[in-house]
Amino acid sequence: MKFRSLFLYVVLFSSCSAGAQKNKPGQTTYSNNKNVQKMELSDQEWKERLTDEQYYILREKGTERPFTGKFVFTKDKGTYKCAGCGEPLFTDDMKFESHCGWPSFDKEIAGGKIIQTQDLSHGMVRTEITCAKCGGHLGHIFDDGPTETGVRYCVNSASLSFEPAEAERTANATDTITLGGGCFWCIEAIFEELDGVVDVRSGYSGGTLTNPNYKAVCSGTTGHAEVVEITYKPDVIRLEDLLEVFFTLHDPTTLNRQGADVGTQYRSVIFYRNDGQERIAKNVIATLNAEKVFPNPIVTQVAPFTRFYEAENYHQEYYGYHKEEPYCKMVIKPKMDKLRKVFGEKLKK
Ligand SMILES: [Zn+2]
Repeated sequence: MKFRSLFLYVVLFSSCSAGAQKNKPGQTTYSNNKNVQKMELSDQEWKERLTDEQYYILREKGTERPFTGKFVFTKDKGTYKCAGCGEPLFTDDMKFESHCGWPSFDKEIAGGKIIQTQDLSHGMVRTEITCAKCGGHLGHIFDDGPTETGVRYCVNSASLSFEPAEAERTANATDTITLGGGCFWCIEAIFEELDGVVDVRSGYSGGTLTNPNYKAVCSGTTGHAEVVEITYKPDVIRLEDLLEVFFTLHDPTTLNRQGADVGTQYRSVIFYRNDGQERIAKNVIATLNAEKVFPNPIVTQVAPFTRFYEAENYHQEYYGYHKEEPYCKMVIKPKMDKLRKVFGEKLKK
C-alpha cells in the first residue's frame, strides 16, 4: 500500500511539474465519459471485422514497427478515425512530423473520445491511449511534444482509418462517359486536349460480340460502335462541355456515317451510366435541335452503357504517334485546329 501511494504521488507530481492540463499524460481522463456511446463486440466479432494486423494492435495492444505504417508521412486534409469503430479522433491539422516513426498528433478531437491509462508493461511507465467508444488500443501519449500543447499522441497507423476532407474528395472525384462519333482516332486525340480530362481510351461498345477486335468491328456486323471512354473531373469540366465539344467535332445528323466512314460502327452515340448523364445528354440534344445548330435533326443514339472493350494497343493515342499519315492530316488535323479555335480556353495549358 505504501508503495502504491508513493507511486501515485510520483505520477501526480510529474504531471504537475509538466504543467498539468486536462489531457496531460498520466491522467486518466473521461474514463466514464457518458457522452461516448460504447461499442462492445465479442472477440470473434472483432476478428471478423478487423484485419490480422488491426486485431493485433487494437485488441491485443500490439505495436507496429516504426516507419512501416501508412500514415507516418501523410499530410492530406481530412479526419483520422478509429479503425475499430470509426469514431473521429484527430484531424490533419493536429498532426505533426515527429521523426519517431509513428503518426503523431498534438491534440485530439474534443469530447473525450480518447482514454488515457497508466501502462506499466515492458518495464516502463507509459500512458496508453485507447478509443473510448470501442476500447481499441491506439498507442501512447508522451509529454515531449514540440508544440504549445507539449504532448505527443503516438498512434499506430493500423489503429486509424482516414477520411479525406470534402474539398479533397470533390477535387479528386472523376466521372466516366462513353461516346461514339466515328473513327475513334480523331475523337480520342480531341478529348485528350481538354482540361479536366484525366484519361481517354479507344474501344468498342454497344454490340453483342464478346471481346471484339478491330477487324470484327470494322465488318459492321458486331453491333459495336467505335467509342472513346472518357474519364474526367466534373468540377473542372462538366459533361455539358464535353458534349458540346463532341457535337462540334463530328456530324451528329448522318445515320451510321462520318464522312467517308460508313457503317453502324461509326454511329453517333452517347452511352450513359446513370440517370443524370442520360438527362444531360437528352437536354443538350434538345437544345441544339431547338436552336437549329445543325441544318438537319440530330440522330445521335442515347443508350445505357453496358460494357467497354478496350481497343488493341496500336489504336491508343493513334493521332499522337501518326500525325504525318494522310488520314490524320486530312481528317484529324482540321478537327484539332477547330478545337483550338472554338474551345481555346478549355484546353490543357
Ligand atoms: Zn474505436
